[in-house]
Order: sequence, then C-alpha cells, then structure tokens
Amino acid sequence: MNLLKFKFSRSIAAFSRTVWRKRRLWRLTLKWNRRWSLWVMLVALLVSMLGTLVWLAGRYEGSQIQTRLEHDTAEIVTDIRTGLARNIQGLEALQSSERDTEFWRLQVSELLRQHREILRVEWRDTALLLVRAGNTPFRPSVFDRMGRDSSAQETAQACAAAVRLSGAAYSGSYFMPQKDGLGMEIIDLCIPVIDEGEVTGYTVATYSLQEILSELVNKQLSRGQGLSFTDADGTRLAIAGTPTRGNRIYTAQQLLDLPGTTLVLRMDSWRGTPDFFPNVLTALVSAMAIALVAVLLLLGRDMRRRLKAESDLADALAFRKAMEDSLVTGLRARDLQGRITYVNPAFCEMVGVDAKELLNHSLPNPYWPPELAGAYQDRQAIRLASATLPRGGHESVYMRRDGTRFPVLIIEAPLINATGKHTGWMSAILDISEQRRVEEMSRTSQDRLQATARLAMVGEMASLLSHELNQPLAAISSYATGSLNLLGDARGTEATLGADLRLALKRISEQAERAGKVIKSVHDFVRRRDQVRERVSPRALLDAIMPLVSLQARKLSVRVVIEVDPVCAIVLCDRTMVEQVLLNLARNGMQAMQAESRKTHAHERVLTLRVKPAAASEANRWVEFSVTDQGVGISEEVAEKLFTPFFTTRAEGMGLGLSLCRTVIEQHGGYLGHESAKPRGTIFRFTLPSGPIPGHPAPSITPFQTTPHPSEFLT
Ligand code: ADP
Repeated sequence: MNLLKFKFSRSIAAFSRTVWRKRRLWRLTLKWNRRWSLWVMLVALLVSMLGTLVWLAGRYEGSQIQTRLEHDTAEIVTDIRTGLARNIQGLEALQSSERDTEFWRLQVSELLRQHREILRVEWRDTALLLVRAGNTPFRPSVFDRMGRDSSAQETAQACAAAVRLSGAAYSGSYFMPQKDGLGMEIIDLCIPVIDEGEVTGYTVATYSLQEILSELVNKQLSRGQGLSFTDADGTRLAIAGTPTRGNRIYTAQQLLDLPGTTLVLRMDSWRGTPDFFPNVLTALVSAMAIALVAVLLLLGRDMRRRLKAESDLADALAFRKAMEDSLVTGLRARDLQGRITYVNPAFCEMVGVDAKELLNHSLPNPYWPPELAGAYQDRQAIRLASATLPRGGHESVYMRRDGTRFPVLIIEAPLINATGKHTGWMSAILDISEQRRVEEMSRTSQDRLQATARLAMVGEMASLLSHELNQPLAAISSYATGSLNLLGDARGTEATLGADLRLALKRISEQAERAGKVIKSVHDFVRRRDQVRERVSPRALLDAIMPLVSLQARKLSVRVVIEVDPVCAIVLCDRTMVEQVLLNLARNGMQAMQAESRKTHAHERVLTLRVKPAAASEANRWVEFSVTDQGVGISEEVAEKLFTPFFTTRAEGMGLGLSLCRTVIEQHGGYLGHESAKPRGTIFRFTLPSGPIPGHPAPSITPFQTTPHPSEFLT
C-alpha cells in the first residue's frame, strides 16, 4: 500500500514537473515570438517607408523633368511659329518685285540663302501655273525625282485655303521621295498676291519639316533631346537631334496650329532617370535611409546586449533569491535613519513577523522586547552615527511574536551602493538560543565531570585520610586511657589529679578538633556548590587547600613552600574550582617528585606554591599562580597529550585532572601553561582575573573578548 502511495506521489510530482517545464517553454517561446515579431514589423515598416520615400523622390524628380520638357516644347512651338511668321513677312516682301524678274530672283536667292528651311520659292499666276521659281542653294531640288506636278494637289489645297483666309496658308505635309533613295516630308506655304482686292497670283514656298526643326528651333532648348513632327495618329514625319540614351523616356507633345494645317511637335527626353539616384533629394533620402538602417542595426545589437544583460541579471536575481531563501541566517538591511528596507525569509521566520509588517516600520521595531526598546533605540542611534561597526558583531535579545525572548548575534556591515555612496547597513542575524542551550548542557556536564573527578580524588585520599586520622584518634585514645588510669590510681592528690585530667582532656579536645578539621576540609572539598564568582584573596585559596596538600606532603616527605607577593590583588573566581585546580597541580607535582624519590634526598623535595601579579598585565589586572616541583619533568611526548582528557601515565590515574584544570582556568578568561623548571622539575602556571580595583575595572570575560595572549603570562 505504502509503495503504491509512494509511486503515485512520484508520478504526480513528475507530471507537475513536466507541466511546469512545458508552461515555461511555452511562455519563453511566446516572449521570443513577440519580441521578434515586433522587430520584423519595425524593419518592414522602415523598409516600406524608405521605399516610398525613394519612389516619391523619383516621382517628384520625374514630374519636374516632365514639366520642364513641356515648357521647352511650348517654347520651341513658339520659336517655330515666330520663325514661320517672320518668313511670311520676307515672302510677302517679294511680292512687290514680282514684275521685275531679275530683282525677284536676286531677292529669292538671298532669302533662300538666309533660310535653309525654305527649299523653294515659286511665283504662280492665278491659275496656279508656275511663273518663276528659285531653289535653295544648299541641296539639289526636292522635286528632281518626282517632278513638281506630283504635289500640285497639296499646293492647290494650300492656295485655296489662302484665298479663303485672305492670307498665308499651309498645305498638309506630304512625302517627297528623293534621288538618293531617301525622302523628305515637306509642306507648302501659299501667300496670295492681292491687288486692289483681287488675287493676282500666289507666292508658294516649300518647307522641309526637318529643316524647320533644325533651323527655327533654339539650339539651347533642343540639345540632347529628340524633336519630331508627327501626324495626329503619331506617325513620325520628321526628326531632328538624337536623344542621349537612358533608362526612361520623357515625352511632351504640343500642337503647332498653322493656318490650313496642324502639326504635332513631339519632344523626347532621356535625361530624366539616367541613374538609380536621379537627384540630390533622392540621394539624400537614400543616404538617410542607409544611416537609419545602420542605426537600426546598431540598435538591434545594443538590444541584443541588453537582453543578454537582462537575462544574466534575471539569473543572478534568481540565484540570489534561492540563496536568500535557503539561508538560515537572518538578513536585514536598514537605511541611514534605521528604517528596515529589506528582510529575508529566515529573519521573518526567526522573529515570526511578516516582511510587509517589518519594512519601513517606525521605531521601536516589533521584535524588540518592550522593556529593552528604549536601550535598543539609544544603542541604534549610537551605532548608526558611527561610520564603522565592530566586525565581530554584538549580542542582543529579540522577541518572537508570541512574546518569547531569544538571544541573537548580530554582525553588521555598511551598505554601499553602485556609486560608492553609503546608504545604510546590512546585518546578518544568528539565532544563538540553540548554541546557548548546548553551552549550558556542556557546562552542566563539565560540572558533573568535575564532581566525579573530585570524588575520584577523594577516593585516592581516603587512605591518606585514614592515616592522618589515625594520629589524632590514637592520641585521643591514649589520652583517654591515661585519664582512666589516672582516675583508677588513688595515689595522686586531688589537686594533681585534677590538673592532669584537665591537661589530658584538653589534649583530647585538641586532637578531636584536629580530626574534625581534617574531615571538614574533605567535606568542604567534596561538597558540590553552585558556581559563583567571588572576590577572594590568593592567600585564602592556598590556605583552603593546605590541609589536604599537607596530608600528601607528609606522606611523601615533601616540603611545601608558599610565597605570596604582598602586592597581589584579590582575585575574582569560582573558589571551589580554583581550589581544585591548585590541589590537582600540587598533587601532580608531589607525585612527580615521588617518582624521583629514589634519586633525591628528602630535603631536596620541595613543592613551591607562588602567587604574584602577572608580568604582562597592566595595573595588576591579572594574578599569576605557579606550582613548581622538582620531579621527573615532562617529556615532549607527554607534553603533546598533557591536556587531552583521560591521558595519564599513572596506573591509578584518571587523566582528567589537567584537562579539567585548563577548562576551569579558561572559563575564568585565564590561561594555563607549563614549562620546565631549573635544574629539574616542572612549573605549572595559570592566571586569574583580579577583582575590581578602584579606578580599574575588572577584566570582563565574555565569549567574544580576546583574553591576554598566553605568552604574556609565561614570560
Ligand atoms: P592524573 O594525575 O590522573 O594522571 P592529570 O591530568 O593530572 O591526570 O595528569 C596527566 C599526566 O600528566 C600525568 O599522568 C603525568 O604523567 C603528567 N604530569 C602532570 N603533572 C606533572 C608534573 N608536575 N610533572 C611531571 N608530569 C606531570
């Protein structure tokens, strides 16, 4: 059943993972598509806008060219019309000299030389019969091949129109083949000679259409263009000039309305769009377009970089968030006014208050115990005012929502923003209640261990005790027997009896007191007491252990020397513990000398207990105790493990003494060490803080304070 449940929950988890992954992928694709479709739209818009701009610029230029062309064509038509009208005047001038043949000829040849476009001038009578004629000197006569009569109809048509209009009139254009196989399009002009209202003859001039185009048109206007006369149906009659080649032709047409006929003048221009960039405007627009595309590309690249940075930032943020969420250390940021600007989930959990409630909360903070809020506020003001904070941190007490207090360790560091400005403080907060509990537990077990060690030591002393108690008890017993004997002996006077008995009883009482003292000292030592720091003089400490030390000293024939420097300050310590340390060191020293006893004489076995102010401690703030023996000394091998619990070289030893001694001394903030004594033996030294001396506060011992360096006390 359980296996089934497990499998089911696993498959549910796998399914939800897959769904989550798919949703994420879909969201990513959507995001990517949206981003790219925007870019595609932008590029398409830009390209179409630029295309339109270039097209419009091209069109504008085309229309400019067209307008200019039409204007030119109109001017050319005017030119031709003016030229033809001037010619009419010249031809009319001939009419006055019709009678004088020679003069007429002269004038005609002069006229023909000046006007290349006129091919022939004729004088005809009223029946249109040729009277006289003159041909252009510049080319053979146009009628050489077909004869003049071939076009008599056109001439007659022109003259009929001239009579009708009472002025010059033109025939329709007609083709006249030439001897060289080619041909030309010509047109006749007929001017009636009117004398007193009567038509007396006609002056007929034959024009070459092609020559009209090349002679009567301003060369400036027609340069590089194709000029032609066409029929109404578009058939080309005459062409002049060849247009320069290009991509596109511009064409303009104008009617040349002449009396009797109408011609169409057509002008073709190729100069319009010779290049892709036809003019400055288009070139400018195109250059701007290229610049715009370049900017777009750069923007795209910049965008890509930004996107990368954005995604990197998102990754970093996700990483940071995961890291913050997984932290068990509380994190809290405050601005320069002390308002909370950030808290991590661990901190909220620690104090049991929501992040929303904590952020920008005015002082006092909701996790400050009310009774300490005032002190905390003052402390915060001092801390925030100083530019630097202790790196080691400080301890404090916070309150959970349910009102329970718990100890915390706070480590603070300044918050510096990207521009290097100090914007506040970041704190890491550790809940140290568990650590405190463990410390308390270890302290209790230490206490128990010490009690055990004390009891072990007592066991060891039991034999000494029995030996020591033997003496007063034997003395008491012999005094009691003596007294009884005195009472049984009737020889003595009452006075002597009384005096003897008093003396014996006094001795008995003395010995009983001595035995009592011995027992009391052991009792005092064994009795478990609360750990209290008290002010005690070094001398009193030594005196307290002396009865027990003497017991062993007597047995081992060791002389105990005590040297107490009179300037020594009172020490602040747990008396029982320090006495145990002293006793342990003294006992170790005596045992070391016992091992040497075979080689040394009794008077050489001296154990010195010395007390003096610690050498490096200023103003008598630490007191140094030393126990010097003249025993075997400590080899390097033994020295390495000396303070290891349960290390001993003695068969009956427990190996707890020194390790406990060191713990006790370190708990007082002092240091326990050893060195070789000269010429032999060992010196064990330890230091204790002195009790407060007026003007000098006692060295405080907290877990975060540095104690004096060991070497300072060993020198
Ligand atoms: P125990 O006295 O039960 O052996 P201790 O921790 O007091 O345990 O001592 C450990 C060992 O250190 C001793 O067994 C002894 O070998 C060595 N030692 C301690 N004090 C001295 C000393 N004054 N001289 C030489 N050796 C010593």
